[in-house]
Amino acid sequence: MRIEEILRAKGHTVVTIRSHATIETVLQRLRSENIGSLVVSDNEGRLDGIISERDIVRAMSEHGCEALRMRVKEVMTRNVETCMPGSKITDVMATMTRRRFRHMPVVADGSLVGIVSIGDIVKHRLEELEIETRVLRDYVVGNR
Ligand code: AMP
Repeated sequence: MRIEEILRAKGHTVVTIRSHATIETVLQRLRSENIGSLVVSDNEGRLDGIISERDIVRAMSEHGCEALRMRVKEVMTRNVETCMPGSKITDVMATMTRRRFRHMPVVADGSLVGIVSIGDIVKHRLEELEIETRVLRDYVVGNR
């Protein structure tokens, strides 16, 4: 099972923010979009970083309310781990678990084509298990 399957179901939208935006703006976007991280991009389709709730918690614990006026580029993670549409879902899940993050942007031919979260992966896995269970139940009932 590949990442492109998840993207086919959830779509290719990636909510982005500019690196000079303030943390206050990030909070408003996270709330309005009901998500936990934003991809940082100053150029259409280019990946400059990622900023998540955890980065904001860290900035606020270090700088207090001043953190709200800080810029995204001061707080974001620059070294972003990405995957490809053809990456195996199990590999992405293993990387997220090992590196302890919950989001992975999807890149194809150097451009951003989507993002998957641990929530998307869990949802996909549950749907797969439901299908497997139904097939097995039908098989057992059908063979009685
Ligand atoms: P998360 O669990 O995704 O909210 O992120 C936890 C921490 O990992 C934060 O510092 C994020 O900026 C960072 N992070 C999130 N996703 C990635 C990623 N794909 N590659 C590298 N760092 C990430």
